[in-house]
Amino acid sequence: MSPYRSKTVFMVDDDLAICELIGNLVESKNARFVSWNRMEGAIEAIKEIEPDLILLDLHLPDGSGLHLCKELNELSAFSDVPVYMLTTREFAIEREIALNSGADAFLQKPIEREAFFQLLEEALCDTVDLKFWGVRGSTPCANRENMEYGGNTSCMQVLLPVSDDLLIFDSGSGIRNLGNELIKMNKPLQGRIFITHAHWDHIQGFPFFKPLYMPRNHFAVHMPQQWSGRTDEVLSGQMTFTYFPVTTDMLKAHIDYETQKHAAQQYEGYEIEVIAANHPVATAIYKVRVKDRTIIYAPDNEIKQAWLEEPTPFTNQLIDFIRGADVVIHDGQYNRAIYPDRENWGHSAWEDAVELCIEAGVKNLFLTHHDPDSDDQFLSKVDKEMDTYRRDFNTLQLAKEGELFKLKVGVCEEPAAAGYSEPK
Ligand SMILES: [Zn+2]
Ligand SMILES: [Zn+2]
Repeated sequence: MSPYRSKTVFMVDDDLAICELIGNLVESKNARFVSWNRMEGAIEAIKEIEPDLILLDLHLPDGSGLHLCKELNELSAFSDVPVYMLTTREFAIEREIALNSGADAFLQKPIEREAFFQLLEEALCDTVDLKFWGVRGSTPCANRENMEYGGNTSCMQVLLPVSDDLLIFDSGSGIRNLGNELIKMNKPLQGRIFITHAHWDHIQGFPFFKPLYMPRNHFAVHMPQQWSGRTDEVLSGQMTFTYFPVTTDMLKAHIDYETQKHAAQQYEGYEIEVIAANHPVATAIYKVRVKDRTIIYAPDNEIKQAWLEEPTPFTNQLIDFIRGADVVIHDGQYNRAIYPDRENWGHSAWEDAVELCIEAGVKNLFLTHHDPDSDDQFLSKVDKEMDTYRRDFNTLQLAKEGELFKLKVGVCEEPAAAGYSEPK
């Protein structure tokens, strides 16, 4: 009934009493607990067990837990597994050395139960991870003064907690870096690329996504029907010899081109639903449901300030669609000062996107599709101006290339097993 049924905590400590105590706490949350009492053989045991959290005593009978911590950090397979160091002594210097050795936290014995449960939740709770690979609108802008927020055009990756399926939204120039990262894994890939529409900044990275050239990979590529054709026709249109030396029939991966429907569609571990954005061409606003969480991806969508005062049928439909969403990634290309000169270009002033999301009760909002002419200095100023709205959200930020956002899902919110109070 409790959170972490598929998770394992591995503890290296020669103190049997503390192992028993921690073991009981871990098992009370239905996670598996394995202990080891020395340095020797610990790495081999960790490799075999593949734990989700590692607890290391600082002073082991045959050496220092710090050495073990450093060794673990050098093993790429475990670089994402949190390591907590434990000690009976509270010396600032030890804490500093432990954190410098790659430990994620430092715990002093005796362990306080509630604090420990909180750390367990941090380490073991399932998350949906959103990674921004491109947050620029219109055209890539590799200018030095844009590097803090990033110069690549639209691409976002969604990492699911219980599936190896790749979820990618848009294939702007940011997808190239994602592809390079994925092929380092050196294994067959299977995934879906959900493209909002066929404007350049959402498809120009597609020919540079290297996994498409490998026969071992499988992808489904989704896009709403465009007036000029289906998904395969539109994508092959930008890959004719006039524009590019490679045509789509030279892509070696198995690729299914799909016309994106609006009705909710179930996939393994998630659901996708779509409404049409307010944009000059047929453009999707995607909703992803994973367990009890919803994520909205709307990089190109024009909201007018007047519609906030007098809602149109579209405003009402949009508010209904995003109501209560856990995360919204929305177009904020302009501000209210610039917008009047860009009306009907299909993009929003960030203030309008923010106010609509407040109305819809959105919890975390990322504004994206930054104008190529908005340099870091300008965007930092926008970030400060957003302070007036921050109390209405858990997170309100401008999306930044390379940033990862972790959204806790499902079981962490369940009531605790009888006899234990859940950490707040
Ligand atoms: Zn765009
Ligand atoms: Zn567009």
